[in-house]
Amino acid sequence: MAQIDDALRKLVTERAAGLCEYCQAAQLIVVYMEIDHIIPRSQGGSSEPDNLCFSCRGCNGYKQDYVSGIDAQTNTEHPLFNPRTQAWNDHFEWADDGILLKAKTAVGRVTIERLRMNRDDVLSARNLWVQAGWHPPIRGRFPTR
Ligand SMILES: [Zn+2]
Repeated sequence: MAQIDDALRKLVTERAAGLCEYCQAAQLIVVYMEIDHIIPRSQGGSSEPDNLCFSCRGCNGYKQDYVSGIDAQTNTEHPLFNPRTQAWNDHFEWADDGILLKAKTAVGRVTIERLRMNRDDVLSARNLWVQAGWHPPIRGRFPTR
């Protein structure tokens, strides 16, 4: 499968419940969502559903063709979070204020760093989303489109 057609896009979007599978930003708040190849096509990654995830443009843009990162805490290389084979809650958690994303593992740390999941503009946006009661997201709360 070389292309992501409408049916595949719908599958990926609905499977993610309309949330970025990295930073959990909701499609209805963050307008620009993309389909990410978890293993990039440039590294032989397929366009099959098990190599695709729903991602906001920010996470996907910073991810580029990376599949790993160096953990500053241990100075060792770790793969980026894979939403198809790993559970988000095993690697990430929200700080008490719901704004800062915290890592629970080295995989979480390298993914937050590589995808800049706590960049200033996102923190500002999350602050507003928390005030609006939209964040942290509840899966299934936001309709997919
Ligand atoms: Zn994201």
